Amino acid sequence: MPGICTVRRPPAKPRGKDVGRSSRAVASRNDRVALYGSDRRLAREMTLQLKHFGYRLECVDRVEGLVASVEAGGRAVLLDVHCESGSGLGLGGEAQDVVARLPAPLVFLSSRDDIDARLAAVRMGAVAYLLKPLDYALLVDTLDQVTGRRYPEPYRVLLVESDAEQAKSYEAVMTAAGIKVVVVEAPMRTLEIMADFNPELVLLELNLPGLSGIELASVIRQKQTYLSVPIVFLSEETRAERQIEAMERADNFLTKPIAPAYLASAVRSRAERYRMLRALMTRDSLTGLLNHTNSKERLATEVRRAVRLGTNLVLAMIDIDRFKQVNDTRGHQAGDRVIKRLARLLQQRLRQTDIIGRYGGDEFVVVMVDTTLDGARAVIEQVRGDFASLGHGTAAGRFGVTFSAGLATLAEYPECGLLLEAADQALYRAKHQGGNRVIAASGPPRGDRVEAAASSSG
Ligand code: GH3
Ligand code: MG
Repeated sequence: MPGICTVRRPPAKPRGKDVGRSSRAVASRNDRVALYGSDRRLAREMTLQLKHFGYRLECVDRVEGLVASVEAGGRAVLLDVHCESGSGLGLGGEAQDVVARLPAPLVFLSSRDDIDARLAAVRMGAVAYLLKPLDYALLVDTLDQVTGRRYPEPYRVLLVESDAEQAKSYEAVMTAAGIKVVVVEAPMRTLEIMADFNPELVLLELNLPGLSGIELASVIRQKQTYLSVPIVFLSEETRAERQIEAMERADNFLTKPIAPAYLASAVRSRAERYRMLRALMTRDSLTGLLNHTNSKERLATEVRRAVRLGTNLVLAMIDIDRFKQVNDTRGHQAGDRVIKRLARLLQQRLRQTDIIGRYGGDEFVVVMVDTTLDGARAVIEQVRGDFASLGHGTAAGRFGVTFSAGLATLAEYPECGLLLEAADQALYRAKHQGGNRVIAASGPPRGDRVEAAASSSG
């Protein structure tokens, strides 16, 4: 129909109960990692520690074992070298050659912090060098990084393009480059779709039906929340004055036709920068999770979305048990590492669509979208059990830590304030009952109780 354009593809939304809880739940991936040359006690401990984070350790005592592990799909190689001094690494020259040629990232574990040992590792192609005694949080971080788990979410790009043919081809180019694209063919729906899709870059045609790309860019910039979202024009317009005018509202101007590799690279580099800057503004520096303010904002957004779509969500408030004691007896740095590990465990066990924030010192919030109370309870209960079984500290002094959690479901507490209050009260009950447990809020929401009291007194 002329004049009426449709959004060809709706923004991706998590839907239905059959959505696996596994898109971020990499723990279930069970990635194979080979370990060479470790002593048995350390190997046993590493196996246990890494298991909780989705890595299956294969301990080998011959270089051939490393080759076999990598050929069988091993994602990384850990090399535990023993050598007191000098530039040798305790491996023969031939074995070093074999290890250096392995097509998997190589991580050194060593007690030596001198430049000879570090240089030898670099020369063998090591991508990381970790000192013993091992900091397991750092080991998991490193493995996540070298196996590509670190930023698994693709960049989100909104493409406003009314020519369906062109839109399709640009979408294909970016999708092939691992970028998630939503195409808007009806420019007047841009804001509505942006609110749902939350793009990290907007790619805009200059000549659109009914309005100009420059006008649309100005409308987008009117909204405080989109002030820093990069806007890039992609257009056939070649007149310099029009391009300059457009650039006043945007971050870049790309001219059609454009080479696929150039488009993908221009989009990715800007989206990446935006994501990094955004992380500085909205995330907690210790854990990389959303900070207090942004956790609350995202909760509000998700509540609105759930109400609109008629889906449920569950809020969990998590607080580490007797954390002051950890700081007092193990030191503040050990406490920091405990906080980081819990953050990482939550990131690994929850879906990409769930929201995780650091609400306060040792307190976290998790918003589990599109799920039931029972489903959410099972997930948090599993994280609780896994966290309780982790050993913290170093081999010289291991200690255990637990957390308690309070849950509240939107089905019973149909508003942000009520959810937060109910989850907090359930958390309080969990603490009161001795900690290391998950309790769901039940009973009428406070708003109802107030109303009930008012009506009974009236
Ligand atoms: P409860 O079982 O009742 O939760 O007791 P608790 O000891 O955990 O008490 P509470 O939650 O009140 O104390 C949290 C402590 O966390 C107090 C504060 O010193 C510490 N803390 C807050 N932020 C940080 C941080 O970034 N790093 C470290 N190491 N400690 C922190
Ligand atoms: Mg606490």
